[in-house]
Amino acid sequence: IGYLTALGRVARQMTGGGIGNVGRRRKQLPRVDKEVVTFDSVAGIDAAKREVAELVALSSQESAKQYLAVGARPPRGVLLVGPPGTGKTLLARALAQAAERPFISCSGSEFVEMFVGRGAARVRQLFERAGKIAPCVVFIDEIDALGRRRRESNFAVGNANDELEQTLNQLLACMDGVDPNTGVVVLAATNRLNVLDPALVRPGRFDRVVKVPPPDLIGREQILRVHARKVALGSDVDLSSLAKETRGLVGADLAAIINEAAIRAARRGAALIGK
Ligand code: ADP
Repeated sequence: IGYLTALGRVARQMTGGGIGNVGRRRKQLPRVDKEVVTFDSVAGIDAAKREVAELVALSSQESAKQYLAVGARPPRGVLLVGPPGTGKTLLARALAQAAERPFISCSGSEFVEMFVGRGAARVRQLFERAGKIAPCVVFIDEIDALGRRRRESNFAVGNANDELEQTLNQLLACMDGVDPNTGVVVLAATNRLNVLDPALVRPGRFDRVVKVPPPDLIGREQILRVHARKVALGSDVDLSSLAKETRGLVGADLAAIINEAAIRAARRGAALIGK
């Protein structure tokens, strides 16, 4: 794509947070994330954004008092459901940023262990950490890795099954123990709501479900615009026609297109300078 002329600062976030980080994640679970993401940088998924933004107000100390006053229970867990790359992690980060709280994140697959009890201990560790630094936002990506329906995982024999079940039970117990009045909000993400154990989505656990669908035409254009802000854009770039040509792509794909174009532009620029 020869759309972009020169490369400004290619955002670290486009390439960061990818597969390369997985190894590091395992060792330092649970980690507090310092990356700054605001709601401004989340585009094209307005309904989901609105619902998550509402939580900022709901999770403030004042509103906690209001809830208590009328005997209502503030939301404890929110499940973000949508295909990979649609911006679920981004939304969770933006929530933490807007509520001015530390963001602790981990992936469900990090809790899947070979040895019985190890996964459950990791879940406990996560919630203990959250309790210590409360108020905070906890984000569990790929929750389906540990929250599968128990019946379905019965095909696994011996240890594997016990382990998954113990980990899930621990997660359920920890969710029940979360006191929303201390300001711990737990968000989790999955692509497959139907494989989750129904106990996880019962009231008092992940009882709010926010759908994060792939963006439509207008959404794609908005996402392209957000990412184009970070690069030097050629005057002949037509983002609305690019949005038309990218049907079916999600935010992560669109960010990658802009980045790829910027890289090529930089390479071309470098070649010119070299001559
Ligand atoms: P998910 O958690 O749904 O798999 P991420 O939130 O990790 O997806 O998205 C990966 C990257 O893709 C983000 O860091 C961002 O650069 C880009 N992205 C995805 N969705 C959006 C969006 N709605 N608006 C802007 N950028 C997005």
